[in-house]
Amino acid sequence: MSAIANDNFERLPKNYLFAEIGRRTEARRLRHPGEAIIKLGVGDVTRPLAPVIIEAMHKAVDELASKETFKGYGPEHGYMFLREAIAANDYKGLGIRPTDIFVSEGAICDGGNVSDIFGKDATAGITTPVYPVYLEANIMAGRQIRFIPCNASNDYTGDIPSEAIDIIYLCYPNNPTGAAISRSRLKEWVDYALKNGSIIVYDGAYEAFIRESELPRSIYEIEGAKYCAIELRSFSKTAGFTGVRCAYSVVPEELGKFHSMWAKRQECRFNGVSYITQRGAEAVYTPEGRRQTREAIDYYAGNAAIIREPLVELGLEPVGGVNSPYIWARTPGSMKSWDFFDLCLEKAGVVITPGVGFGESGEGYFRISSFGEREDTAKAMQLLKSLIYSL
Ligand SMILES: *Cc1c(COP(=O)(O)O)cnc(C)c1O
Repeated sequence: MSAIANDNFERLPKNYLFAEIGRRTEARRLRHPGEAIIKLGVGDVTRPLAPVIIEAMHKAVDELASKETFKGYGPEHGYMFLREAIAANDYKGLGIRPTDIFVSEGAICDGGNVSDIFGKDATAGITTPVYPVYLEANIMAGRQIRFIPCNASNDYTGDIPSEAIDIIYLCYPNNPTGAAISRSRLKEWVDYALKNGSIIVYDGAYEAFIRESELPRSIYEIEGAKYCAIELRSFSKTAGFTGVRCAYSVVPEELGKFHSMWAKRQECRFNGVSYITQRGAEAVYTPEGRRQTREAIDYYAGNAAIIREPLVELGLEPVGGVNSPYIWARTPGSMKSWDFFDLCLEKAGVVITPGVGFGESGEGYFRISSFGEREDTAKAMQLLKSLIYSL
């Protein structure tokens, strides 16, 4: 084939993290047939959808069954009933209008697609360790990447760069580190962006896990953020929509041409999320919806506490798990991430996620997720604790 290919794909990091975890787990199963393996690596929710969401979706399905209430294509930017519910609930008092909100099928899609509205020569600032989409979408677009290391020395919130970077990707509470960002730190980022004319893409997929009331829940709580920030949110982790698919981006009118370009980009390349899904998402904002979705979040938070405690005891300095579903910790004795993975799998039958899979700066760390079953989580932590004490 002589068609010219996008060579930028060759620059993508060779990342087989989850495939490699699967391969090693399967090999262990074959070596010790019949032995239980507990997976604490999952980045997917496990609690079912709340009853009020199911009810709303059933009702929407019935509407599609009759000629009078049938719906075809919906508005490209989302139904107004959902955009209004989002603005009124998630952005109450922050001056975000329903028309600043764009409903989509996923924050992962928005996180990649948002790259379309920036020029080829724009530089992309990527915190590491990182959730791969921001990095990979910018590499595919041929952009120069500036890495922003996040580690204990900067509370996993990166050092403010001394040079001007066009697009800064931030994600708090963070995946994979579980770290949250303080108001004062986020203000430093916003001030940097305003001073340098940068745009911050703020991934708030784990906002619902924030428990400490002094932490910012939205970047728009910071003065001036409407002039420099795009925020991404998702119903995936908030309400168990990972398989249903519904999220939204906030691109305020104050961003001028970037607001218009994003509206145009979505009109051109996207035809909306299903009516059924949007009615389900709307139900999240009812009083029962809030209560029922809260139950699932509390369940995961309970798991997170069970994971965190022994890691604190063991002196592995865990980050996260208080305002996020992920716990990030040092490997014992500064082992390499994959060596520790193999040890946990072989000796304890527990699958963790090697930190290095999220970038070089994750070497020597591991991530545990709180999305598992309570009993499995407790059992796995007992096994890990005994294993680490025995080293
Ligand atoms: C899970 C997750 C999302 C959500 O993605 P969806 O496509 O909405 O399911 C976004 N950002 C991060 C960092 C995530 O971990």
